Amino acid sequence: MPVPFLDLQIQYRAIKEELDPAIQRVIESSAFALGPAVEAFEQKFAAFCGAQHCIGVNSGTAALTLLLRAYGIGPGDEVILPTNTFIATAEAVSHVGATPILVDCEERTALMDVKKVEEVITKKTKAVIPVHLYGQPADMDSLMQLGKKHQLLILEDAAQSHGAARKGKRTGSLGDAAAFSFYPGKNLGAFGEAGAVVTNDAAIAEKIRLLRDHGQREKYHHEEIGWNERMDGIQGAVLSVKLRHLDEWNAKRRQHAEQYQQKLSGIGDIRFFETDERSEHVEHLFVIRTAQHDRLQEHLKSKGIATGIHYPIPIHLQRAYAGLPYKEGDFPVAEKLSTEILSLPMYPELTEEQIEEVCEAMRDFF
Ligand SMILES: *Cc1c(COP(=O)(O)O)cnc(C)c1O
Repeated sequence: MPVPFLDLQIQYRAIKEELDPAIQRVIESSAFALGPAVEAFEQKFAAFCGAQHCIGVNSGTAALTLLLRAYGIGPGDEVILPTNTFIATAEAVSHVGATPILVDCEERTALMDVKKVEEVITKKTKAVIPVHLYGQPADMDSLMQLGKKHQLLILEDAAQSHGAARKGKRTGSLGDAAAFSFYPGKNLGAFGEAGAVVTNDAAIAEKIRLLRDHGQREKYHHEEIGWNERMDGIQGAVLSVKLRHLDEWNAKRRQHAEQYQQKLSGIGDIRFFETDERSEHVEHLFVIRTAQHDRLQEHLKSKGIATGIHYPIPIHLQRAYAGLPYKEGDFPVAEKLSTEILSLPMYPELTEEQIEEVCEAMRDFF
């Protein structure tokens, strides 16, 4: 039996009775852009994160970009972020005209190496964007201290960490503000594109509400030049329904991760990333390391098992960022990891049999 990397259809079928009427209500009310369904979701998601404000936008990339803009970050400013992340973290910095300053990651966790952050702080540094990669919170305690010491904003890229926590506090409430993505494959996924900013800063929340809607508070009275980055009503309705199930889904992901670890430990040269004991990981991706990731991926594919590599090329080696002053060898840990990582199938509805099938195919290979 083939094992997909992700299966969104099973999830839909399981909660179709809740989702369909919620979508229908939006259609019947014609509140397609923002509106009551988005407002209801914003309140619930802010509460879920343990924060005061949530502002629904059109994507995670928009959430990051508007956040930087709302804080007035732009040309001449520098923003520090890890090189091993999805391109959007860097794109947001570029879109506001600031310069991305990259740092390497820790080999143990694949998370941004906070010790490296301090080395690249300059007078131009305005913010740091830690990425809670694969579903594990970055070392926010150290980062917040660093932020205080150097007067830097700490803006969480929480696109992979819905519900993840550090010392009992959820991502979205750990930094000065956070950006979430609800791209369909994320732990909390919309039926299309969506994202949100979460923060305790009322002024920033207000500013993002303006920026996402053409700078208008009152229709056709534009106080500043904004964007069209509003969340769809249908996405608000879908996300409210799905949020009710998120804790249970995340718990299942954790069970699957444990099962993978038990079954795969000691096989070949397979290694796992560590989870900090102060952190609650939500296993957005389950990533292993092996010197033979390409061949293993081919082997699994031949058995009908889909895998991924997150990510094959660090930001500093992407052609899009050839303009930054980096070269191969600058970030050795991220470069090495990119040649070793492999993401195995991971979604809440994955069965024990499917996990066993993946593990058997891997034992087979080694
Ligand atoms: C998915 C993702 C984003 C971007 O979110 P979109 O909704 O696709 O724009 C940003 N950062 C990280 C780490 C992501 O995984």
